[in-house]
Amino acid sequence: MKKILVLHTGGTIAMHAAEDGDVEVGAENPLNQAQFDLPAVDLDIENIFNIPSEHITPEHMLTLYKRLKDADKDYDGVVITHGTDTLEETSFFLDKTLGLSIPVVMTGAMRSSNELGSDGLYNFQSALRVAIDEEAANRGVMVVLNDEIHAARFVTKTHATNVATFASPISGPMGMITKRQIIFFYDLPKTMTYPIASVSKKIPVMKAYAGMDGQILSLFAESEHIDGIIIEALGAGNLGEDAARGVQELLDSDIPVVIVSRSFNGIAEPVYDYLGGGIQLEKSGAIFARAVNGQKARLKLLIGLENGLSAEALTDFLHEF
Ligand code: ASP
Repeated sequence: MKKILVLHTGGTIAMHAAEDGDVEVGAENPLNQAQFDLPAVDLDIENIFNIPSEHITPEHMLTLYKRLKDADKDYDGVVITHGTDTLEETSFFLDKTLGLSIPVVMTGAMRSSNELGSDGLYNFQSALRVAIDEEAANRGVMVVLNDEIHAARFVTKTHATNVATFASPISGPMGMITKRQIIFFYDLPKTMTYPIASVSKKIPVMKAYAGMDGQILSLFAESEHIDGIIIEALGAGNLGEDAARGVQELLDSDIPVVIVSRSFNGIAEPVYDYLGGGIQLEKSGAIFARAVNGQKARLKLLIGLENGLSAEALTDFLHEF
């Protein structure tokens, strides 16, 4: 019989709606009473946190990492329940640090446990089905909701309230769940992972916009409180002239600047050769992170800096697709 470690962290999947409809955190996780229609499986359940996912910080991610880094010695798979708001970040952090071959599956819910059409138990059961599936190993961290399987590296929350909120704009879902089958559509190339022991680096994410004031970036350059910065740049990774001057000030102050696209889909890459264009940003020392949004690039830079990677290794890690 397969042995699965279940870590509950909280989120809507663990919450309930009060009489006035307001969704609240309860003392007891309703998932602890869950009954499933599953083949025999041995579940080891731990309520590691019971918090909304907006309260999740890299410290919580590190706690999960430490609990899971040797999980393959005792378990055949792992399921983590989590709030959906930052689920993509925790899943990405674990994907870039754990490197386990056993399935690690994260899930959540958009409707709390006692709401009409609650999706929590169903998603939890789907996640367990994926975690015990014979084809699920060696796929990195997966995110399972609404009958779809997504790779942590591509998934993002796309809708504030709809149950069909998770999507992988670049790659499409990695698989699907039917009543009787788990189907994987493709295998992903293996990517780099790095262990992690601390998460103290300060890395803000800034979104670019038409007319972005470079002075906002200069303020960061003068501050001693940041270790790097992510800029969600325009299109394929471009900035206005004033913002480009601000980036130069950051780089002159030895603050790593990572460029991603603010576009919802596609990859940031240097294409344009003028002040603020991607080619000039890269020439001046900014690093392009491919295939990740700002919040994921932030975690990649955090993991890279915590590991003391050389400039070259950091660039390779951020460039990796
Ligand atoms: N606010 C909730 C959370 O992330 C949303 C959810 O779980 O769907 O904890």
